Amino acid sequence: MERAEDEDEARGMPRVVIVGGGFGGLHVAKKLRRAEVEVCLVDRENFHLFQPLLYQVATAGLQAGDIASPIRAVLRRQDNTKVIKGEVHDIDRKERRVFFEHGEIDYDYLVLAAGMQTNYFGNDEWRKLAPGLKTLGDGLECRRRILEAFEQAEWTDDDDLAEALLTFVIVGAGPTGVEMAGAISEIAHEVMVRDFRNIDSSKARVVLVDADSRVLSAYHDETSEQAKRDLEAMGVEVVLDSMVKDITDEGVHVGDRFIRSHTVIWAAGVAASPLGATLDAELDNAGRVVVGPNLSLADDDRVFVIGDLAHAAGEDGEALPGLAPVAIQQGIHTARNIRRRLKGKEYRPFIYRDKGQMATLGRARAVAEIGKQRFSGFLAWMLWLFIHLLFLVGFRNRLFVLLDWFYAYVGMRRSSRLIVETPESYQQERQAERRQKALESAEGEIAVFDDEELSEKELHRRAEERSGGE
Ligand SMILES: Cc1cc2nc3c(=O)[nH]c(=O)nc-3n(C[C@H](O)[C@H](O)[C@H](O)COP(=O)(O)OP(=O)(O)OC[C@H]3O[C@@H](n4cnc5c(N)ncnc54)[C@H](O)[C@@H]3O)c2cc1C
Repeated sequence: MERAEDEDEARGMPRVVIVGGGFGGLHVAKKLRRAEVEVCLVDRENFHLFQPLLYQVATAGLQAGDIASPIRAVLRRQDNTKVIKGEVHDIDRKERRVFFEHGEIDYDYLVLAAGMQTNYFGNDEWRKLAPGLKTLGDGLECRRRILEAFEQAEWTDDDDLAEALLTFVIVGAGPTGVEMAGAISEIAHEVMVRDFRNIDSSKARVVLVDADSRVLSAYHDETSEQAKRDLEAMGVEVVLDSMVKDITDEGVHVGDRFIRSHTVIWAAGVAASPLGATLDAELDNAGRVVVGPNLSLADDDRVFVIGDLAHAAGEDGEALPGLAPVAIQQGIHTARNIRRRLKGKEYRPFIYRDKGQMATLGRARAVAEIGKQRFSGFLAWMLWLFIHLLFLVGFRNRLFVLLDWFYAYVGMRRSSRLIVETPESYQQERQAERRQKALESAEGEIAVFDDEELSEKELHRRAEERSGGE
């Protein structure tokens, strides 16, 4: 990219703009703390989210604040760093400028670390029916739906409805799906059993569905077999080799069967942030930006893409997986490379140090693969607890999470079983209310609202028709 190299000096210190305060972006910022640069981190949220524990918020094990840390607070001791809360929608590499909804900012070095988003593979209408698990809002919405289903099942006289309410379907048997299935099963079968009077929550069905023939397909065969056995021992129905064909208000069409369920969670896929496409660089099939060995673009060594959004080749030539340690190591490496360049040195290539992978299945059950070693059961679970506590941002969060886990382990309790209306559900309700009112004024009587798709325009037309007729 052509641009006057001496613009850095004209502005004073060179400016590093980081888009995304997730695992990758936050580590770039932290490692530039003492560098002679101005750092500007832009994120659409005001917090860093520890996604590996999001399923625990979704299943009432942890509170939202335990796994989210305000980015400003994390970086407050860095005098060379400012934080902007803004959603970036465009990047002009020629002008070296980043655009967000309420402004724009020039950069000398850009680090794009905007991660992934939930992918419904072209069935976006399922979004409303089956929330994903990617943002804190998703986690709170899943929690609301799960807890609400138990509450509704408690008061209904309709046995079929109660059965559908107490059937939870999780689509996607990767780590997120497996962890969700295990946690919901635990709540239903062990935590809630004494809390309800009309229903027996231990009869709840938890169904884990995947088109693949294995759960945790990225793991070794033996590990995924072990995980499947553990899930089944916990009462989870594992349905494999089965593609989801449709999701409706009433349930899920899986292969040639229909599972009646009022709570469906989508853990089946992610796609790259659309921001990658604004770079006008090479993208892979998943929309990830293809980067060179030092994580910068082939034709622009001032633009780095890291973390989930990057397609960076590992030693075997395959793209590195979307894992927190990959993003963290790439963030640290990119900060080091920028510091090297400021000293007139060459960039160094990135080499990923594989720390293994692990997934938890429930209380005292997990699977882990570290190098050639495979663990399961209590040992893997302890390892999982330790690693997650270690990487959690902030001492307060670590302390509170540790206390919550201790409480859950000893008392079989879930500390945050609160049903809180999330903006989405609130908006839907308000919208339904508005439509109901409009219908009433249109029909002149209390109408039974049964047409979700009735447009505001149609309602106005009816109201006008009615007032004109009087
Ligand atoms: C439910 C779940 C469980 C997981 N469990 C594990 C696990 O157990 N172990 C593991 O290693 N990995 C796990 N992962 C994967 C891991 O969380 C990711 O690999 C990691 O978060 C990637 O880091 P990142 O910095 O690339 O992106 P992210 O951490 O996703 O951060 C992206 C940031 O960019 C911001 N952003 C996005 N778009 C914009 C925009 N347009 N403008 C401004 N800001 C924007 C977002 O708000 C976010 O803060 C899990 C992921 C999920 C969703």
